[in-house]
Amino acid sequence: MTIVRCSVLHPGSLCDYLVPVDDSLDKLRSFFPENLLLASLDLIDRECVIKYHLPWGRTMYEVFGSTANYSVFLKLSPNTETSMSYCTCPAFAYSALLSGSQLMCKHLLATLLAERLSKYVERPINQDDLAMLVYRQCS
Ligand SMILES: [Zn+2]
Repeated sequence: MTIVRCSVLHPGSLCDYLVPVDDSLDKLRSFFPENLLLASLDLIDRECVIKYHLPWGRTMYEVFGSTANYSVFLKLSPNTETSMSYCTCPAFAYSALLSGSQLMCKHLLATLLAERLSKYVERPINQDDLAMLVYRQCS
């Protein structure tokens, strides 16, 4: 998948998101609402997707939202065919889990796209940092 800035595709455009080109964007539009897709691309463009390698070998992500930060976990059951993923934001709980009105929230979509495009920010984390991260998100 190739990505370019929106302003390159559409000169004079007010937005400057990183967007996938070719038919990948059309495929994404068939699954996700335009506002969710653009919000996810905006998170990636603003380097809001942080990838942490946990001391016990798992990976987690933190996504900096506009009002709060959320933890995202991909492939909670790595040994199964289904790849359950989870975000700690209220939108995921309501839209994806309770009502089923959306497949996922913008944080989870941003994380999946960032992982696919290798457009995340990697940061080391130790147990104390992880405890502080959880404390911040729960307080
Ligand atoms: Zn979320």
